[in-house]
Amino acid sequence: MINSFFNVPKPKNEPVLNYKKNSPERKSVLNEYDKLFNTKIDIPLYIGDDKIFSKKRKKIFPPHNHKHELGSYSIAEKLDVKNAIKSCLKSKEKWENLSFENRSSIFLKAADLISGKYRFKINAATMLGQSKNIYQAEIDAACEFADFLRFNVLFASQIYSNQPIQSNGVINRLEYRALEGFIYSITPFNFTAIAGNLCAAPALMGNVVVWKPSDYQIYSANVIMEIFEEAGLPSGVINMISGDPNEISEIVLSHKMFSGLHFTGSTEIFKILWKKISNNLTKYLNYPRIVGETGGKDFILAHKTAKIDELVTSIIRGGFEFQGQKCSAASRIYLPKSISKKVIEKLKDKLSELSIGSPNDMNNFITSVIHEKSFDKIVDYIENARKDKNANIIYGGTYDKSIGYFIKPTLILTENPNYITMREEIFGPVVSIFEYEDEDFNKTLDLVNNTSKYGLTGAICSQNRNIIKHATEILKNAAGNFYINDKPSGAVVGQQPFGGSRASGTNDKAGSYLNLLRWVSPRLIKETLNPPSNYKYPCMD
Ligand code: NAD
Repeated sequence: MINSFFNVPKPKNEPVLNYKKNSPERKSVLNEYDKLFNTKIDIPLYIGDDKIFSKKRKKIFPPHNHKHELGSYSIAEKLDVKNAIKSCLKSKEKWENLSFENRSSIFLKAADLISGKYRFKINAATMLGQSKNIYQAEIDAACEFADFLRFNVLFASQIYSNQPIQSNGVINRLEYRALEGFIYSITPFNFTAIAGNLCAAPALMGNVVVWKPSDYQIYSANVIMEIFEEAGLPSGVINMISGDPNEISEIVLSHKMFSGLHFTGSTEIFKILWKKISNNLTKYLNYPRIVGETGGKDFILAHKTAKIDELVTSIIRGGFEFQGQKCSAASRIYLPKSISKKVIEKLKDKLSELSIGSPNDMNNFITSVIHEKSFDKIVDYIENARKDKNANIIYGGTYDKSIGYFIKPTLILTENPNYITMREEIFGPVVSIFEYEDEDFNKTLDLVNNTSKYGLTGAICSQNRNIIKHATEILKNAAGNFYINDKPSGAVVGQQPFGGSRASGTNDKAGSYLNLLRWVSPRLIKETLNPPSNYKYPCMD
């Protein structure tokens, strides 16, 4: 027992390395990429002390080179899922009773491993498995992941130190218990950092976790488990299982001790999961916490006073970074007619400079989309637009899946503000543009607000302060992350807590104390120093 109140380190955002030509970091990450590319890996299930290499396996291929096998991963049987839950529950007591400074040291060490010893490995794994170019891999796998772990320690300490007031003869203590049961984390393909954070955040708060990563992030998920293990995370605290998501979820979500879902992925899957949880409600010991961050149809609304070069940059970076596969990617753009011609010309000009190809060629801004199903879905949107009289493909529209799932950045101009690509999440390098009459700015604000079911991110570009103020007010519920003169993507932990409402999720703001609060169940302890010994009120004497 140590008798001290400890302070936690003050976190800083991990600096982003630039990977310039001849830089040591560029050499290191390319070496690591080549090494991983030329090694076949077998990824196990991580259940308690065991690494289980199942008989049933699936192969892993880089999306940009889908004939090259990187190895395989294990497919969980029903018994493995049950064992993962057992293993959680077995580790629970020891883990939740480990003091906060010990739990936090493990995750702080993991952050140092991510930004140090494992930096190039986790980046290279993200480049290979998820086809991120080095800049996108660095800001995600190395920096954002380390930031999540470091900032969460600070946020957790702030939560724990938040205590009720005292009164004469009464001591009030608030204890932030871990949830009574286990957490189920289901994670998407598109961010290594999100995958790691969705299991690490509840674990930091003393919870035990069954983690089901995406099949299309499994390659870097394995590096995450390697790092957690090296950081000293006791086995059984986070159990990683992969396989049929439906089958796994059926078992996990019908367990009495299921106490929380930490999900990021598409809106459709989140709704399915929520319904399953509702159907099983009578089976649970507690009402489970449900946290889900889902899709977006993120906008950039330009006013006639917008600066054209800044606007064009926001559209290119916001719309096409990581091939538009960010929940926050700008995918519907509203341009006033007085500047739209110029903006579109510049956009086409800049887009023509973007090179497309494998992420190990560091000149490539665009690489491939994640898998064939996604490729086909995006191509359908493009081909439908080509046939539709409401839409006009003004840039791109070509694609090729012979080597990797490559789609050229595509611009669709539409005269119908409710055209399908202005409403639905495409999750690919396709940006739709609607032009409006300058004097219809207020009508356009209503359009932006009401066109799509989502409410994740959006941006206003203008140099007029009154317009900025007005748009910020009218679009209050259109975006959980609202940007002024910027792209609507690229949230940084500790700076821009991230999440949206409407169909975009429960808006529990990953990378903030708000998210961590969902993983604790406070217990109030009142101690009375001089308890009354007579039931009568003073007025009764
Ligand atoms: P997805 O919904 O296809 O998959 C997400 C996870 O759910 C994966 O692990 C998948 O295996 C699992 N899953 C699939 N079917 C399931 C089922 N029936 N039961 C249980 N689990 C199931 O999403 P994705 O393609 O991996 O990721 C892209 C989506 O994630 C986009 O919609 C994007 O907007 C969203 N996203 C949102 C945020 C955010 O913070 N709002 C961040 C990243 C991604």
